[in-house]
Amino acid sequence: MIRPGKMLREVLKSLTKKPATIKYPAKAANIPDRFRGRLKFEAEKCIGCKLCMKDCPANAIVIEKVGDKFEATVDLDKCIYCAQCVDTCPKKALRATTNFELAQLDKRKLKVKI
Ligand code: SF4
Ligand code: SF4
Repeated sequence: MIRPGKMLREVLKSLTKKPATIKYPAKAANIPDRFRGRLKFEAEKCIGCKLCMKDCPANAIVIEKVGDKFEATVDLDKCIYCAQCVDTCPKKALRATTNFELAQLDKRKLKVKI
């Protein structure tokens, strides 16, 4: 049964409360420090062990030797942002950033060197 009195009480209560939503993207989102967003790779720390590739549950990361350095490529649409690769890396060559604005209209642009 509908109880108008109860509904009215809720409406009046919400008039005095701040909105739960934020005005993103007009206002910057407040991202927690430990948020797991786009990965960052520090090539000079990498030893090419490829443990990150082995542990990635989504097969989203590839480490390749190019010249005398290593390069990391990530499929942003395959990555599930679990940060397993970050935990696995023995040299701390990978870290998760707070960048979450990764949307693209062109799917090919989601395969990126990080
Ligand atoms: S686990 Fe770390 S050191 Fe090993 S290949 Fe991946 S990024 Fe490089
Ligand atoms: S964050 Fe997870 S899914 Fe993404 S590349 Fe690392 S291990 Fe793979």
